[in-house]
Amino acid sequence: MEGRLGIIGAGSMAEALLKGMLSCKLFSSGDVFVINRKNDERLNFFRENYSVNTTRDYKELLNGCRTIIIAVKPKDMGELLSHIREYVTRNHIIISVAAGIDTGFIENRLGKGVQVVRAMPNTSCQVKESATAIARGRYTGDEAIKVAEEIFSSVGKVVIVEEQALDAVTGLSGSGPAYVYLMLEALTEAGIKAGLVREISEQLAIQTVFGAAKMALESGEAPVHLRRKVTSPGGTTMAGINTLQQMGFTASIMEAVRNAAERSRQMM
Ligand code: NAD
Repeated sequence: MEGRLGIIGAGSMAEALLKGMLSCKLFSSGDVFVINRKNDERLNFFRENYSVNTTRDYKELLNGCRTIIIAVKPKDMGELLSHIREYVTRNHIIISVAAGIDTGFIENRLGKGVQVVRAMPNTSCQVKESATAIARGRYTGDEAIKVAEEIFSSVGKVVIVEEQALDAVTGLSGSGPAYVYLMLEALTEAGIKAGLVREISEQLAIQTVFGAAKMALESGEAPVHLRRKVTSPGGTTMAGINTLQQMGFTASIMEAVRNAAERSRQMM
């Protein structure tokens, strides 16, 4: 990708994104500048492990880089925006991953009709399998969206949504990995109770979830069809599915996503 990239906040999300972008050569490490607050250890780590440039000067970062990824915690956004405000121009592409901070918040604090893209990736960025949704701000052009799409494509799949959909995204794919981990825990414990040793039970649970997700992705068939195909009347799978539904499986997932989305709405 043309131009330099600035990353503000050298935390775990920044590292996952950086790894993805460097491994698919979206940017070369010499074109990346990273800044972090009061934490030279993280900056040294980034410099030593990824050969990127580091700085302690917002002006240097903003003057030298057109595309800026902001990866600080939501609570630190207000203070950060006040630091960078004077160096930001309309030519910059500001990409924020801060959960619950809307583009209006960023636009209001930066002024000047700045181009903002808001992204909601998930923790599977670390293995390049994130499900990321991105949304444009009020002044954001198509090119800026394309840049953000390419960046998040380096760590998984990307969808473009209207900003009001991002709370639903947070409830579904943002928090979703944890729901699946909970299911893996439950499957593992259930396997043990049914007579398996822990190691075998866990391996089978993980591979089963992985295989089912891969099948849904690669077959192009809707999950409902895949489920019906493997559920013969009166068979073992039918017995399991009936129990899940009697105990409120679908209803509890619907309620979990609704509640997480509601929590996201309240975070601003
Ligand atoms: P983190 O705490 O690991 O990293 C944040 C970094 O930002 C820290 O190193 C901190 O020192 C630095 N920082 C804080 N204020 C700063 C400032 N003014 N200037 C420069 N650096 C500053 O956090 P994380 O888990 O990487 O999350 C970062 C953002 O990503 C959050 O806003 C979070 O909502 C979002 N996010 C994270 C995930 C995830 O899976 N971790 C998923 C979706 C969105």
